[in-house]
Parts: sequence; C-alpha cells; structure tokens
Amino acid sequence: MKVGVLALQGDFREHLATLHTLGAQACEVKTLEQLQSVDALVIPGGESTTMSKLAIAFGLMQPIRTRISEGMPVYGSCAGMIMLANTIQDPASGQESFGGLDIVVRRNAFGRQVDSFEADLAINGIQGAPMRAIFIRAPWVESYSQAVDVLASVEVDGASHPVAIQQGKLLATSFHPEISGDNRVHRYFLEEICQKA
Ligand code: GLN
Repeated sequence: MKVGVLALQGDFREHLATLHTLGAQACEVKTLEQLQSVDALVIPGGESTTMSKLAIAFGLMQPIRTRISEGMPVYGSCAGMIMLANTIQDPASGQESFGGLDIVVRRNAFGRQVDSFEADLAINGIQGAPMRAIFIRAPWVESYSQAVDVLASVEVDGASHPVAIQQGKLLATSFHPEISGDNRVHRYFLEEICQKA
C-alpha cells in the first residue's frame, strides 16, 4: 500500500513525516504519473483556493475526481476537507473541489475572533485520551447527507458542528493532526480505511 500526499501547496511535509512515523510507504504527488502510482491519497491543510487553481494547472483535478469515484481512500485535513466537499458554501470565484463527501462545507467557519484555537476532542473510532486538535482558519461541516458519519463535533454558541467525518473510504478533519505530534488519525486512516479497502 503506497500513500501519496498531494504536494501542490500546504503542509504536505508534515503529513509525510506523520505517515513515516507509522512506517507507511508515503510519497509526494504533484504529477499524474505520481498519482497513478499510489493506492491512497492525503490532501493537506493549506489554502483551498490556491490548491484548487494548482490542481487545475497541474492537470490533476479531473484525474483525482476519477480516482475518488473509483474508490481510492482519501484523507483530507482542513483545506483538504474543503477539497473533498461536494459543495463549498462560500467558494472564491472559480474555486473548485474534487468532491466525494456529500457535505456542504463552510470555509473559515469559526470566524475571526477564534481564527486559530486548540481543543481536546474525543473522536469516534479513535481509542485513548481525547486528541489535542489544532484549528487554523478551519472549516466546519455545515450540513451533510445520511451517507456521512460524524466522528467528532465542536460546539459553538450551543450549536454542534462536525469537524471529523467519514463517508466510506473518505475521511476528513477540520483540524490538523499532522502538526500536533499525535498520529492516531493517520493510523485510523491507514488501518481502518486503507487496509480494509
Ligand atoms: N481557510 C483555509 C481555506 O479556505 C483552510 C485553512 C487550513 O487549511 N488551515 O482553504
């Protein structure tokens, strides 16, 4: 099983390092050839508008959509969650996503006052102590279909907003486990999604 990390923009190096701590065979993906050589993909945090433009410019938008529709396991963190959403509530002009997750995602959802914050989160399917989750201009899931399993939510002003979700072989988090030094979300992706694919 070879796991690619989309390396157009964002914190792909941190994802590669985290995957390597788990002994995974992981490599950068920025060409079609590299995409074809991997069995699963991680989409990093970063800036989804830029990632969208670069995916189009590098000829990867349609090929990644095709691989997702063929059942490739994919994990997206933060901007990666936005890239996996079927609908972006507030896209920048020309912004596209790969899609796959039957959700409406809201970018920068936590607002300016709480631009970046950390929270201890219990995540369904992940054993042990709550995870320290780092949110940086993070999205949340605004709405979702019945096909989506919510693994963790954050409460804001009495309303609960999903921040970790799974739909079949697609996993997404609003936060960045790749920079917290806790590899349990990556382990879950490898063991519960990739290896069972
Ligand atoms: N706000 C960014 C976006 O819209 C995501 C931020 C992140 O990945 N940390 O793409």
